[in-house]
Amino acid sequence: MRTPLIAGNWKMNMTVQQAGAFADELLKNNLKEGVEAAICAPFIDLPVLAGKFKETDIKVGAQNVYFEKSGAFTGEISAPMLRELGMHYVITGHSERRELFGETDNDVNKKSRAVLEAGMTPIICVGETEEERESGQYTAKVAGQVTAALEGISPESAGGLVIAYEPIWAIGTGKSATSDDADAMCRSIRSEVEKLYDKNTADRVRILYGGSVKPATIEELMSKSDVDGALVGGASLKPEDYTALIAGA
Ligand code: 13P
Repeated sequence: MRTPLIAGNWKMNMTVQQAGAFADELLKNNLKEGVEAAICAPFIDLPVLAGKFKETDIKVGAQNVYFEKSGAFTGEISAPMLRELGMHYVITGHSERRELFGETDNDVNKKSRAVLEAGMTPIICVGETEEERESGQYTAKVAGQVTAALEGISPESAGGLVIAYEPIWAIGTGKSATSDDADAMCRSIRSEVEKLYDKNTADRVRILYGGSVKPATIEELMSKSDVDGALVGGASLKPEDYTALIAGA
């Protein structure tokens, strides 16, 4: 009942030219039906991707946003600006933004609300550090991030959200969580959503796993009942890998 979603997060990779070439290559492939495909790219690539994927079901998203609509915020991009470009998704609260750029739970909440208000869907990222995993604090840490991110979001909006569980120790390390661990954390996030809202909302919300997902591991991951898809960094940069991820989902 929940449509699987494979979202690529290109991070700070792919020039405009490379993004255009990726799209041209990807469009030559037959993407498996019944799986939603989305690419979250650097801001400058977004118009190119929106244009190339216009007549297709492939969705495009941004990796960040500022929560104000407009004004004197040098260097920032707002949600209405992204919506006008035809964006569907915006990643909020990625651990790289939290760790390298000092984003707080409160920022993540404001950004997610701004994205919803503009008519797009946030992909809200949560996840624990290696230390938190080892000390056994990870479930509480992630539950706290989910609660903070969803504050003030209505039940109607919450059901349509995407939450990505990305343990920080698994990002770009080749050290993926086991599919059982990923499933258990996705289930724990779903039960947190149920606590905050209700069962219907929890059943609707899509929860992705992210962290060293590869074509070779996607099938096993997607066989788990609470994993609704993946947020993929490195393996989303090549059209053939991305196509294989969709095929395995
Ligand atoms: P990798 O797939 O490169 O580990 O990155 C995961 C990630 O951070 C996606 O947002």
